[in-house]
Amino acid sequence: MEKPHFYSLPKLPYGYKELAPYISEEQLQLHHEKHHQAYVTGANAVFEKLEQGRKAGSDLDMKATLKELSFHIGGHLLHSLFWANLAPAGKGGGGKPAGVLGAAIDKEFGGFERFQKEFTQAAVSAEGSGWAALTFCQLTNRPVIMQIEKHNVNVYPMFSILLVLDVWEHAYYLDYKNLRAKFVEAFWSIVSWEEANRRFAGLLKGGAK
Ligand code: MN
Repeated sequence: MEKPHFYSLPKLPYGYKELAPYISEEQLQLHHEKHHQAYVTGANAVFEKLEQGRKAGSDLDMKATLKELSFHIGGHLLHSLFWANLAPAGKGGGGKPAGVLGAAIDKEFGGFERFQKEFTQAAVSAEGSGWAALTFCQLTNRPVIMQIEKHNVNVYPMFSILLVLDVWEHAYYLDYKNLRAKFVEAFWSIVSWEEANRRFAGLLKGGAK
């Protein structure tokens, strides 16, 4: 099947009201339709600029162009992972990881509570706009927490992302104002461990994306 040449905004796997009260309808809709869409539009615009430059044979400022492309692609990919690793509370959201991921977290962190504490601290302390991510290193078989600034700074190359949490202000400001820690606390009620486990099992089989 031929793949699309440009990015597009993915549909959410739940309704805008379904993550409330942890994420309100207004907050979720704005975040998805406006903020995420802006990264999709931004990445596609850079690809168009590159295509036009190639056709015209004109020079582009490659450093600036690639920095902009990395920012928008990072934003698009992280948001796509984020929506998929959330689920309505009590309907797939919340609880603790089971399966292969639960076992890997227990082994590396000595238990879920310690992992939750470290991940929470990573999310709360990300400088400015950023993300907390749970990744996996296939060289050492370790789950590793990654703190991402903006959408693209501090990324460990080749570590696959199992779980992400968006801690840009636009992710929570309508619901929690400046209280990022409250939003991070709420995240644990709507996190989808099933999706994180699916990503991890796929990675262990060599088929993860
Ligand atoms: Mn965001």
